[in-house]
Amino acid sequence: MELTKKAFKAYDVRGVVPTEVNAEMAYRVGRVFAAMFAAEKVVVGHDIRLSGRELVDALTEGLRHGGSDVIDIGQCGTEMIYFATAHLDADGGIMVTASHNPAEYNGMKLVRRGARPISADTGLMEIADMVVDSKDFPHVKVPGKTEGAVRRYDIMPEYIEHLLGYIDIKALKPLKIVANPGNGGAGPVLNELAKYLPFEFIKINEIPDGTFPNGVPNPLLVPNREATAKLVREYQADLGVAWDGDFDRCFLFDEKAEFIEGYYIVGLLAEVFLRKQPGAKIMYDPRLTWNTQEVVDAAGGVAVRCKSGHAFMKECMRANEVLYGGEMSAHHYFKDFSYCDSGMIPWLLVAELLCTSGKTLSELVEEGAHVARVNVDVVLGHGGQQQRPQFVDGSGADHDVVPECAGLWGTVVDNVLAVFRPAWGVEQFHAHGAVDGDDPVAAAVCLVQQSPVSWVQA
Ligand SMILES: [Zn+2]
Repeated sequence: MELTKKAFKAYDVRGVVPTEVNAEMAYRVGRVFAAMFAAEKVVVGHDIRLSGRELVDALTEGLRHGGSDVIDIGQCGTEMIYFATAHLDADGGIMVTASHNPAEYNGMKLVRRGARPISADTGLMEIADMVVDSKDFPHVKVPGKTEGAVRRYDIMPEYIEHLLGYIDIKALKPLKIVANPGNGGAGPVLNELAKYLPFEFIKINEIPDGTFPNGVPNPLLVPNREATAKLVREYQADLGVAWDGDFDRCFLFDEKAEFIEGYYIVGLLAEVFLRKQPGAKIMYDPRLTWNTQEVVDAAGGVAVRCKSGHAFMKECMRANEVLYGGEMSAHHYFKDFSYCDSGMIPWLLVAELLCTSGKTLSELVEEGAHVARVNVDVVLGHGGQQQRPQFVDGSGADHDVVPECAGLWGTVVDNVLAVFRPAWGVEQFHAHGAVDGDDPVAAAVCLVQQSPVSWVQA
């Protein structure tokens, strides 16, 4: 099959199997990776997708022929590859995953020593060039190199121990938590964690299943949200948690079964960490001007602003020794997790906060909601001139507010479009399109209404 670079994206490899991603490509990625990073030891694993095992086997063969020893941790989450790479002192790690994409997709996330991401500007495009353009790439070991060995390794016990290190188990109370892994990989981890936690879990779509019998494991999709929300209502749970397929992102529901936007979680976790470690540095996403600054200042911490995009953020955190950072795409990064993102640490910390504060999640979110600010990516057209708004101010005070489009209100101040619902902080949007006409503000608000929440990233 002819190989193309189509699947090589800014931060990972992702495409349809087998036309864009296949075993031949995986083998070559392994060969190139071994050579490029002079890798003696590489961790590999795969998510629940049906093509995962075949791709890992091909990848392993490529790595071994390139001279790398391979540690195969089997079916896992993306963050388990990050954890294992750092924890086992490997030269790199490769996760076979397509995150929340449909079943016919697969791909790879690559990291080097210390679980540092390999993205388009740090080697991924060079890998793509070599993988695709090298015409002669025989499946034999590299001359002069000793073929690497492969061993299976169960990273789960060390990973679970690490996760539990973020919380004080003695401070926990018997919360009722709805957990929806969406037939992705979070279920087995949850079962291991549950052995140590006093929580009662109400589980749905718990069994990993690469055929995705209950739809694509993307909790941002509205029908997927309802499955979790319904159970929260039925069981009067304290918290609902849903994960994407490779569980590097988790999504929370409060006790009223309301979906909580990611930027509220950043503020909550900033507070949690500053309580645990006063004076610490907290990173925030420039697209996200929540009250992070205020929270961090009030708690005596240092707010560090970094450029968007996970590779930039991780490097920025590393350079500044930032303790915790959050992105509005629901990626949360932790210093003690090799500056990597985890979909398990955030909900554990929020559950702990519910126990220690005695407040409900809606109360905790409400406390921050009045200062919530979020960027929108809406293009406004004024007389043919396109302007790109940069932030949203949730207060909306003293501005000329337009009540348009099914409960959404909007205003523009200094070329910034603010959109919000009167009863509930600020919505989160990613809408593209030019707007013009007699009333571009009203038109832009309607545009946002038509394309709600979709800061979808892997
Ligand atoms: Zn993911």
